[in-house]
Amino acid sequence: MSNTATNNNIKAASNSIKHDFNLLKNEIIDPGFCVTCGGCEAVCPAFVIQIERYLPKLVGDCITCGACVDICLRYDQRIRKHQYYDEGIGDFLELYVGRSVVEDIHSRAQNGGIVTTILVNALNKKNIDSALVTSHFGDLLNPLPTIAMSEFEIRKAARSKYTLNPILIKLPAIKLSHRKKVAVVGLPCHNETLMNIIEMKNLGADFRVKYRIGLFCMSSYHPVGFRDILSNKLGLDTETLSKTDCARGMFFFETPDGVSDIKIKECAGEKAEGCKYCKDFAAELADISLGNVGVDDNSNIIIVRTEAGRELLNLALEENLLELEKIPEERWAEVLAPAVKLTNNKRRLAEYLPEYLPGMEKD
Ligand SMILES: Cc1cc2nc3c(=O)[nH]c(=O)nc-3n(C[C@H](O)[C@H](O)[C@H](O)COP(=O)(O)OP(=O)(O)OC[C@H]3O[C@@H](n4cnc5c(N)ncnc54)[C@H](O)[C@@H]3O)c2cc1C
Ligand code: SF4
Ligand code: SF4
Ligand code: SF4
Repeated sequence: MSNTATNNNIKAASNSIKHDFNLLKNEIIDPGFCVTCGGCEAVCPAFVIQIERYLPKLVGDCITCGACVDICLRYDQRIRKHQYYDEGIGDFLELYVGRSVVEDIHSRAQNGGIVTTILVNALNKKNIDSALVTSHFGDLLNPLPTIAMSEFEIRKAARSKYTLNPILIKLPAIKLSHRKKVAVVGLPCHNETLMNIIEMKNLGADFRVKYRIGLFCMSSYHPVGFRDILSNKLGLDTETLSKTDCARGMFFFETPDGVSDIKIKECAGEKAEGCKYCKDFAAELADISLGNVGVDDNSNIIIVRTEAGRELLNLALEENLLELEKIPEERWAEVLAPAVKLTNNKRRLAEYLPEYLPGMEKD
C-alpha cells in the first residue's frame, strides 16, 4: 500500500474515534509530547483548556468537539499526516545573508535585527495591522505572547527567549480585535500548529494571518529549571539579564556585569520534554525563516520560502532598511551547510515519537 493510502486509512480511523480532551491528555500531554504551543487553548470553543504550569489543563466540561486534538502538531505527527524531508532544510525560493541598517533596532536585536525591521516596516506601511510577537514579563526567561499594534511594542519584543512559549493562545484575541493583516513570529512548532489552525479555518486564521515568520530552533527550555541554572550555577540575577544567546555549543547570558556562559550540554536536563521529539530546525512551514547559524553573530541567514515571504522582505528592501547579500543558487549548499548539519543532527538525535494507532487509546 502507498504511504498516501496508509495515511488516509490512519486519518479515517482517527476520525472514527472520539476526539476529546482525554485523547489529547492521554496521547500527547501525559506522555510528554506537548510543546506548549498554546494552540489547543486557543481553539477550544468551550474555553475549558488553560495552559497552567506550561501544560494544557481541562478546567471545565469538554463538549467533545475535537478541535484541540485536530490542530495539535504532535497528534498530527503521531498519525503521520506531516512527512518531514529526509534531509535538507525544506523548499525555498531565495536565500540571503545580512542585517538591518536601522541601527537602534540592530543594536537591540538578537542577531541582524531583520525580524524586527521587517515587522516595523510592514506596520508603518500598513501592510500589516499587528504582529504576534513574544515580549517578556519580569525577566527574559518569562516569555509574554503579545499582539503588537505599535512600532514600540514590536521593538520591545526583540531578542530571543529560550523558554517555553505558548504564543498561539493569543489567536482568539486577534479574532476579537478584528485584526485582518497579522504577521506571526514563531518557532517551527508554533508554525506547524498554526498551519493546522489555518487549514481548518479556525478562528479566522485563514484570512487573518498574512505572514508566518519562522525562527530556527534547536530547543526550548523549561523556565523554572533554566532559571535555577542561571541563579544557582552561574550566580546571575535573572532580572538583570539583557540578552541570552546560543552559539558554538554554548549559552551566553548578558547582564550589566558582563557575559557569563555555560555549555548547552550542561543545560540538557532542563530541555523542554516535548522538544526531544522535534525534527524541524529551520521552520520549514513558514513563509520566511530566519536564524543565525553559519553567519556572524550580528547577521541573519534568511530563507524565503513563499511569495508572501518574498513580499514581506521586499517591502523593507524597497525602503533601503536592509543590507543583504542575495546568495546565488550555486552557493546555496555552501551557505546552508551549517543549517543542514544542525537539521540532520536534530533529526538523528530526536527521540522516536510513537505512531498512534487510532482505537488503541486509553479510556
Ligand atoms: C528558542 C529559540 C531557539 C533558537 N535557536 C536557534 C539556533 O539554534 N540557531 C539559529 O541560527 N537560530 C536560532 N534561533 C533564532 C535566533 O535566535 C534569532 O531569533 C533569529 O536569528 C532572528 O534574529 P533577529 O535579530 O532578526 O531577531 P529580532 O529582531 O531580535 O527579533 C526576534 C523576534 O523573535 C521573537 N521571539 C523571541 N523569542 C521567541 C520565542 N521563544 N518564540 C517565538 N518567538 C520568539 C520575538 O517576538 C521577536 O519578534 C532561536 C530562537 C529562539 C527563540
Ligand atoms: S502541543 Fe500545542 S496543541 Fe498540542 S497539546 Fe501541547 S499546547 Fe496543545
Ligand atoms: S471542547 Fe473541544 S476543544 Fe475544548 S477540550 Fe473538549 S474537545 Fe477539546
Ligand atoms: S525544538 Fe521544536 S518543539 Fe521545541 S521549541 Fe523548538 S521548534 Fe518547538
